[in-house]
Amino acid sequence: MKIVLEHLTKRFPNRNKKIKEDVIAVNDFNFTIPDGKLIGLLGPSGCGKSTALNLICGLEKPSEGKIFFGEKDITELPPEKRGVGLVFQNYALYPHLSVYDNIKFPLENLRGENKLTKEQMDKKIREAAKLVQIEELLDRRPNEMSGGQQQRVAIARALVKTPEVLLLDEPLSNLDARLRLQTREELKRIQQETGITTVFVTHDQEEAMSISDMIVVMKDGVLQQMGDPQSIYDEPANLFVASFLGTPQINVFRGRIKNEKVCIGDSVLLDAPGKDDLEVYVAIRPEGFVVDENGPFECTFVNREVMGRDTSLIVTHPEFIGEKIRAIIPSDEAVHEKDGKVRFSLKPKKVCVFDGKTTERIM
Ligand code: ATP
Repeated sequence: MKIVLEHLTKRFPNRNKKIKEDVIAVNDFNFTIPDGKLIGLLGPSGCGKSTALNLICGLEKPSEGKIFFGEKDITELPPEKRGVGLVFQNYALYPHLSVYDNIKFPLENLRGENKLTKEQMDKKIREAAKLVQIEELLDRRPNEMSGGQQQRVAIARALVKTPEVLLLDEPLSNLDARLRLQTREELKRIQQETGITTVFVTHDQEEAMSISDMIVVMKDGVLQQMGDPQSIYDEPANLFVASFLGTPQINVFRGRIKNEKVCIGDSVLLDAPGKDDLEVYVAIRPEGFVVDENGPFECTFVNREVMGRDTSLIVTHPEFIGEKIRAIIPSDEAVHEKDGKVRFSLKPKKVCVFDGKTTERIM
């Protein structure tokens, strides 16, 4: 099911009573979530992710704008009539019910022509349990299971009514690192098997990058960029998106465009044909630095962190003012560190240039 957001806006009275202006949690969202895709709503705490999800599921009413599922305007429909499955961070399972009864719960409320027989319910419960691979756990209570298993139950419960849209709010954030990895792969598999349009909220860029078909990056209620993970990473729309995506973070320096060249201090990094002189931010991905004996940038070695396959080199350069430079190089590439110095060249594709005032990307 395609989801279309049209001028979708949500204002709240400020929780800080001293501030008169409303908080605009979601500010004029206009975009389409394509049918059958897995979408990550990504942004820092308070940027409006949960509010956006709550508007889509109907738990919040928009201040302005419309929401369509397919061609149908569902803006005024209550949550239970929207055909959405919901999963929350804390699983929200009923502790006194077995896994079987937890999954059954949404089916028991069906009325009229949708009412199911016991056998039909049983079939659906077992199908959902199979999909999330918890068939052996149906007799257990939630407290007899790991966090990952409980989250699977919550997903099964959300899927049992075969919703057209699955919405998940920080579904993995209560899991430990290993389970998180496992469960996110599971989520991807389940989404692919069912083909249900799925929107999940996360503040974890790596999580969003790893499983989403498309990422929506938000900040202060404003959509910053929408696109597939790779293109957002490679071509961030602004400095915020560039800095929010990628671990380790992108290196950012003050620079300028002068005589159609991008410079940091007196070091020339790139040609900027046709560009006017301008103060800029130059951002370089850590993997954009290549150790190169003949490279133009002589840096002072500060530290090295071996991270298995890759090594992170921390260096400084007299003209790259501000933060230390972090470069990521494959661990098996010898590092030519002479008298505490390392020379680098740059991969031009890993360098982004942003307007020094607006912070929008200009190249
Ligand atoms: P987090 O990751 O911390 O959950 P989020 O990105 O999901 O954050 P929201 O919970 O959607 O952000 O909140 C967005 C903004 O709207 C915040 O400034 C928040 O304080 C405000 N807000 C959310 N719900 C309400 C409410 N019911 N009343 C007043 N303000 C609210």
